[in-house]
Amino acid sequence: MTTTPLPVPEADDESREFYDGARRHQLMLMRCRSCGAWRLPSRPRCPDCWSTETEWVRASGRGVLHSFGIMHQKLHPAFADRTPYQFAVVELAEGPRIVSQVVGVAEDELRLEMPLQAVFDDVSDDATVVRFGPRRS
Ligand SMILES: [Zn+2]
Repeated sequence: MTTTPLPVPEADDESREFYDGARRHQLMLMRCRSCGAWRLPSRPRCPDCWSTETEWVRASGRGVLHSFGIMHQKLHPAFADRTPYQFAVVELAEGPRIVSQVVGVAEDELRLEMPLQAVFDDVSDDATVVRFGPRRS
């Protein structure tokens, strides 16, 4: 039986620094240089002030679990043998929320507002996926 490989994130112009940062094991966030609003996902124009001025800031990687769900649908063949799996929305200490996955915590132990810390999963030589694990301190 042939197993479909997991899809690997591919950066575009707006997300390149996010993924390059992940490869360095740094969580990088785009911020509006005009008004300071975070842009996550990164995008060329600020949704608050419409500025196209941007800067990249290294985030702490700290956050809390805002929401989570369990995926049962097999929407991609690579996940056929991996469902059900958990996905999460993490509210970062800096404010924006990121869709990711919590690792190192059993599904029945997930609790809203539990403290989390970014971890970096090198899924290939070229790509690293940002996930979140329990924060101990
Ligand atoms: Zn702005």
